[in-house]
Amino acid sequence: DPRTVLITGCSSGIGLHLAVKLAQDPQQRYHVIATMRDLGKKEKLEAAAGESLGRTLTVAQMDVCSEDSVSACLSSIKGGSLDVLVNNAGLGLVGPLESLNMTDIKKVFETNFFGVVQLIKAVLPSMKQRRRGHIVVISSVMGMQGIIFNDIYSASKFAIEGFCESLAVQLLQFNIFVSLVEPGPVNTEFEAKLMAQISKDNFPGTDPDTLSYFLNIYLPASKEIFQTLGQSPDDVVQAIVQVIGSTRPSLRYQTNALYTPLTALKYADPSGDLSVRTFYRLLFRCQPFFRFSLCCLRCLTGNCLRPRITPM
Ligand code: NAD
Repeated sequence: DPRTVLITGCSSGIGLHLAVKLAQDPQQRYHVIATMRDLGKKEKLEAAAGESLGRTLTVAQMDVCSEDSVSACLSSIKGGSLDVLVNNAGLGLVGPLESLNMTDIKKVFETNFFGVVQLIKAVLPSMKQRRRGHIVVISSVMGMQGIIFNDIYSASKFAIEGFCESLAVQLLQFNIFVSLVEPGPVNTEFEAKLMAQISKDNFPGTDPDTLSYFLNIYLPASKEIFQTLGQSPDDVVQAIVQVIGSTRPSLRYQTNALYTPLTALKYADPSGDLSVRTFYRLLFRCQPFFRFSLCCLRCLTGNCLRPRITPM
């Protein structure tokens, strides 16, 4: 029998590509319930799904922030049980903390943390009863390593990582696996949505120095990172398909080997100095042109040989 996979946030990006990829699995191992908050946005998914629509792929409404929507969707599933749950829906938020309002800050946690918690809580009883299941969460490398001006987004992903890491131990006893997928930058609408927020915002309450660091240092660096290290949704989907197909899935998967050296800093130095100071040097001390050519890792030890803006 095919495994039933429910995915959240399938109107765009990774969710859309993953839904289609699993539904078109050559071995027909999956039946996909592709959910989205607003069914008015289903055309793109339906077009991409092609022949699999109505066969191995069903579209359903689910707003992960609404308890009613979650329970209505889950109770409409034929047979009532899921084999795989993919928590993909997520929101970003970027900018100087002083300029962000608490409503937007809480919305990120409502979606990236409480939305995931609510859905996992709802599917656990049936997975436990059947003594099987796989819970996948699309986290981020920012769920392990904080990044400048992404304070809130990163915190929401750290929160869900702590939650999953704790839960994973208990669930092994029920033969239920928990996996965190940690992509680096991915070229989806995610980044464009963030940039759209920036242009219409006037950064209230932010001092000129901070604003200039954000606009003139962070934004160009972020753009460069997306261009040089960015993956396509299909690259990430390929990794997720492997995770879902695995018989003994691990807790964590990074999808981007180019990004791994940056996250490794954290484990190399428990004091946190190595990662904090390396990111500081890269952003505030390196010449922009060399900034992310991590070819010469001398920057990690403060022994960079290249021209600098100011001494390290
Ligand atoms: P995306 O913006 O294309 O997809 C996110 C989807 O979540 C959207 O379709 C959006 O409508 C949906 N969504 C938001 N709030 C929702 C809600 N309350 N209920 C249901 N759906 C909701 O971006 P993406 O890159 O495909 O993001 C997918 C996941 O990947 C997110 O969890 C994101 O944090 C994570 N991620 C993205 C990147 C990146 O650089 N794009 C990097 C690492 C991790």
